[in-house]
Amino acid sequence: MIQRRTVGIVGTGNVGTAAAYALFNQGLASELLLLDKDARRAEGEAMDLMHGQLLAGRVTCRAVDYPEMSNAQVIILAAGASQKSPDETRLELLERNARIFREIVTQLDKHAPEAILVVATNPVDVLTYLSQEMSRRPHRRIVGTGTLLDTARFRALLGRHYGVDPRSVHAYILGEHGDSEVPIWSNVRIGGVPLRRYCPACDKHCPTGELDDIFYRVKNAAYEIIRGKGSTYYAIGLALVDIAASILRNENNILTVSTLVDGFYDIRDVCLSIPVLVNTNGVAKTVNIHLEPSEADELRASANALKGIIRDLAIS
Ligand code: NAD
Repeated sequence: MIQRRTVGIVGTGNVGTAAAYALFNQGLASELLLLDKDARRAEGEAMDLMHGQLLAGRVTCRAVDYPEMSNAQVIILAAGASQKSPDETRLELLERNARIFREIVTQLDKHAPEAILVVATNPVDVLTYLSQEMSRRPHRRIVGTGTLLDTARFRALLGRHYGVDPRSVHAYILGEHGDSEVPIWSNVRIGGVPLRRYCPACDKHCPTGELDDIFYRVKNAAYEIIRGKGSTYYAIGLALVDIAASILRNENNILTVSTLVDGFYDIRDVCLSIPVLVNTNGVAKTVNIHLEPSEADELRASANALKGIIRDLAIS
């Protein structure tokens, strides 16, 4: 069990700050270290949080440069560039973010080689994979938020549909955090009861397609939120705290996070989300859940889509 709990955040934009605020409020960390390319922004965020210290607990928070990140056990990476112009393609934006990550990972390898890195920046699976390639730390110590947020949305919407607290719904979204993600319907359980048994005994008598609509809303949630308010950050901030908690408190929580896959349903050499046990060592092991053949096919297709993006990348 780690006693001193220091969390670093690189990139104090919307997502980094939402994570900082959630960490500050929940008292999980004893110290927060904020770093941004825009140092004044990180300083402003740290000051703003510190003014709530009396009201939120004993957490301290300050803006730092890379050498001071050496104190951190967990470092959240939420730094990123946004689209330069409407002409900039997704791939060009990814190439810019990959360069930013090379700079960040190189600095963190130098100053905080023992910390576990938690990547949030999109495309999160590709940047988790590239960070592992760029870093000297073991791949188990670099994890991406992956489909943790999608899984949380899935459980929340299923819970609402069945009138059950989401904590009593067990369900996974696996694969890419994005368009090729896969709902594992065969594994959904309400209070431990598989859907194929729960639904016939339920008095809702849902029209065909209602469950498909739940997954559609999960997959398109980010687009919908962005249409409304420009970007998403509160729920991803909480997902980041969930991962940090599992690491700092050695919780052995099973989470769908992006990790290097080595043989799960014949998938190799790509980062995507599968259920893994997360503790103080980072990703400790894979939980080998059963997938139906069609679900396994979809997961392999998701892996191939991600491998295609990595192949197309040209980083100088
Ligand atoms: P933002 O533009 O508000 O913040 C990005 C921050 O990164 C800025 O403060 C910027 O100054 C900083 N930055 C840029 N280059 C840097 C560098 N070299 N070193 C340090 N800091 C640097 O963006 P945001 O809304 O906070 O989103 C951040 C990322 O999180 C995006 O890629 C977004 O797509 C992603 N995101 C992921 C999820 C998920 O589920 N994984 C959910 C929401 C958003």
